[in-house]
Amino acid sequence: MTEHASTLTAEVKGERGMKEYVSTLMADVKAKNPAEPEFHQAVQEVGESLALVLDRHPEYRHARILERIIEPERVIMFRVPWQDDQGNVRINRGFRIEMNSAIGPYKGGLRFHPSVNLGILKFLAFEQVFKNALTTLPMGGGKGGSDFDPKGKSDNEVMRFCQSFMTELFRHIGPDTDVPAGDIGVGGREIGYLFGQYKRLRNEFTGVLTGKGLNWGGSLIRPEATGYGCVYFAQEMLGTRNETLQGKACLVSGSGNVAQYTVEKLLDLGAKPVTLSDSGGFIYDEAGIDREKLSFVMDLKNVRRGRIKEYADKYKRVVYTELNGKLDHNPLWNQKAHCAFPSATQNEIGGKDADNLLRNGVYVVGEGANMPSTIDAVNRFLDARILYGPGKAANAGGVATSGLEMSQNSMRLSWTREEVDNRLHLIMKSIHRACHETAQRFGTAGNYVNGANIAGFLKVADAMMDQGLV
Ligand code: NAP
Repeated sequence: MTEHASTLTAEVKGERGMKEYVSTLMADVKAKNPAEPEFHQAVQEVGESLALVLDRHPEYRHARILERIIEPERVIMFRVPWQDDQGNVRINRGFRIEMNSAIGPYKGGLRFHPSVNLGILKFLAFEQVFKNALTTLPMGGGKGGSDFDPKGKSDNEVMRFCQSFMTELFRHIGPDTDVPAGDIGVGGREIGYLFGQYKRLRNEFTGVLTGKGLNWGGSLIRPEATGYGCVYFAQEMLGTRNETLQGKACLVSGSGNVAQYTVEKLLDLGAKPVTLSDSGGFIYDEAGIDREKLSFVMDLKNVRRGRIKEYADKYKRVVYTELNGKLDHNPLWNQKAHCAFPSATQNEIGGKDADNLLRNGVYVVGEGANMPSTIDAVNRFLDARILYGPGKAANAGGVATSGLEMSQNSMRLSWTREEVDNRLHLIMKSIHRACHETAQRFGTAGNYVNGANIAGFLKVADAMMDQGLV
């Protein structure tokens, strides 16, 4: 940070002063981290919420807590060479962002997708710090991955890539240091190959990754946890208006891990999911995606690794719309419904999409994906005072259950499905309560964005104050 920001830290106060503080901070963040728009976006959103708390607590400003949280503790970038099935040499870039370890070992997923770059992983790691703090479990924040695209690769190619990736990553991680998990493009298959290589290199069987297979240290409910947790969070939000999910039409985007288990839990609770998507397009099924159709999707995506278009080929009266990226809005969000569960990727809901959602009657948004709404979209949801659950709160069930997997690994025992699900449900209720109460305490009742950012920040900030200038 510049000298200017440092002076502001000590002197400013009041609403105007705080606005100036956040805008100076943002100018510094942009200057210091150019070409990282997603990281700027994530910091901007948190910064605006934290103006409230920084005004009341000058001690955090003096200790430069937010400035320290923005700077990763460590960034690891490395070459990942591997050979494809034709014998060609391929080179990808690997990353691990160790963002903050104030309340526990770094924890956060690995993403394998061609769009992965430093800025995207820094935004994800930054969000993860606050999310993990909200879970009530002792986990710091991190994120990693590669621009490797598992789509269209054979199992052997994916294995060789994972082994090469772990051959560098293994020296930086460990069960008490940094515990990665899955994210986009990293599911059970990839975690298996990564774990196998870690074990071989370290000669140790430890809980260094979460999302492991059930036979070798995994936890029941971990695959389901993000989607289930997001629906539990939506249920809690509806509860504040004495409503339930029963009979509600729900738009779900994506068709991967989070989307699939969001649909499953929506069905458990009597709701009617009507859409799913992938990067090629989306299906709209007016009759509703029932359990039989969901098991078709699970086989299509997890076993056959096919495209969502096949859903429309198989079932009658389903509309498939191609997404060609040329429109300034996504027609998936322009359907009549009560609830929306964006579960694909960042910035999939823009300002115009938010307007369409509101116009179509959507008044509950549960973010299964990380930062799926642009700042414009978030502001429209907040202005409309709908029940808007931001990703760092609504999708925290995945990492929370990873935390439960770590506990079971340390104790060398396995809890039953019911026990893990009950704990997940309690954690989601407690995250909801923390966000709801914190928003109220800071004079912005019903604003879960402020609630999540402030509640997560306070836990990390207090730990950082206790631990001195490190
Ligand atoms: P996944 O199993 O790999 O599924 C991702 C889904 O989103 C796929 O249907 C994919 O379609 C679609 N998608 C990805 N990138 C896209 C893009 N640029 N445009 C359009 N569609 C895209 O991943 P996931 O684990 O479900 O993760 C989904 C979201 O949830 C991510 O934002 C992730 O960070 C977040 N999240 C995941 C967890 C977890 O436990 N897994 C926890 C918290 C948050 P294609 O197959 O066509 O690419």
